[in-house]
Amino acid sequence: MQQFDVIIVGGGLAGLASAIHLSQAKFKVLLIEKNAYPKHKVCGEYISNEVLPYLNALGFNPYDFGAKRISKFELTTHNNKKIEAKLPLGGFGMSRYEMDYQLYQLALKDGALVLQDLVVDVIFNANAFIVETKSNQILRSKIVIGAFGKRSNLDVQFQRDFIKKKSPYLGVKIHVSGKFPNDKVALHNFKGGYCGVSKVENNHINLCYITNFEAFKKHKDIKAFQEDVLFKNSELKAVFKNSKPEFEKPLTISQISFKTKSPVENHILMCGDTAGMIHPLCGNGMAMAIRSAQLASDLIIAYLQKKITTRLELEKEYSKRWQSTFSLRLKAGHTIAHLFRQDWLAPKLLMLLRWFPFLIPQIIKMTHGKPMQVK
Ligand SMILES: Cc1cc2nc3c(=O)[nH]c(=O)nc-3n(C[C@H](O)[C@H](O)[C@H](O)COP(=O)(O)OP(=O)(O)OC[C@H]3O[C@@H](n4cnc5c(N)ncnc54)[C@H](O)[C@@H]3O)c2cc1C
Repeated sequence: MQQFDVIIVGGGLAGLASAIHLSQAKFKVLLIEKNAYPKHKVCGEYISNEVLPYLNALGFNPYDFGAKRISKFELTTHNNKKIEAKLPLGGFGMSRYEMDYQLYQLALKDGALVLQDLVVDVIFNANAFIVETKSNQILRSKIVIGAFGKRSNLDVQFQRDFIKKKSPYLGVKIHVSGKFPNDKVALHNFKGGYCGVSKVENNHINLCYITNFEAFKKHKDIKAFQEDVLFKNSELKAVFKNSKPEFEKPLTISQISFKTKSPVENHILMCGDTAGMIHPLCGNGMAMAIRSAQLASDLIIAYLQKKITTRLELEKEYSKRWQSTFSLRLKAGHTIAHLFRQDWLAPKLLMLLRWFPFLIPQIIKMTHGKPMQVK
């Protein structure tokens, strides 16, 4: 049976950043990802600069691959009220297709092994893990990082609480070509959801919206939903109508859950969306995924180097640091999303922000962290 120091389940941003970090520290790392790279994902693809120092320290510079520098923010309501602001920290626009692929290449270069397979079970026994895959591989490791995203077969396998409840949210994404400023991220509200608009490395515009099933199900299909609901917002109508789709059809996901999860389960250190998901309205999920990878990796290194002496101490410390880093922004994100979901309230909130524009950076800061410290 093959033995590793760390097995990482899931090769999105949390898994890839952990794989790079731990391989650079010379540990034997296996990353298992069910899909082949590169692959498009439903995501707004605006990434906060919070994680730029860490990504640079890992050897990844998004601007080498054409990422767009984003410093401006625009918000519109379903009844066509608009505000604009400067983003306090800013960010960059890069497709998940390109970013995950480039990080995957970096992980390989740094010595991580990457296996394309579906993990079907993780068993903890005698202070070690046995990881089983769909193709009947049985692998062993001292540590397992769970980086399998917002919803996975493993959540069902581990009977996690959130998976037992249905969630009403669904996401739709498409890349289009057309005119849109490189340096702006726009959030356009519509009744029952909002759509993010920003550019990525190859000049495509990413249109990504989240809505609830109740709003969606009254319409025949995606096209009808967009025509009937999204296009009431004139900015959204203009961006959809004046652009050319780059995908044959939009990507969709359903059952997006924002329920509380736990950062450690079955002794597995959970990273990224597997540990908890912030509302996409805040544009901070990717930064949180990358940041949690750094938190976990630093502690795992200390454990494997015996500076942390027990597994219990490792798990307690990770939970503590995860909560202190993310729990406030998760709460703020859920509250802001809840307020903006109220169709009657959103325009009033926007008027308030127009009168008191200094509040905008304060609200954004509540859902974002400071630039990451790198050792
Ligand atoms: C509609 C929408 C818009 C968003 N917009 C933004 C935005 O603009 N900015 C932002 O910062 N965040 C945004 N987010 C959030 C962001 O997409 C996530 O927070 C981020 O992708 C989390 O990364 P991750 O590595 O935790 O998970 P993922 O990127 O989902 O990676 C998980 C990986 O695990 C793999 N996997 C799952 N199960 C298994 C298994 N059993 N075996 C092997 N592999 C497995 C999957 O194939 C996947 O590749 C948005 C989310 C949604 C839904």
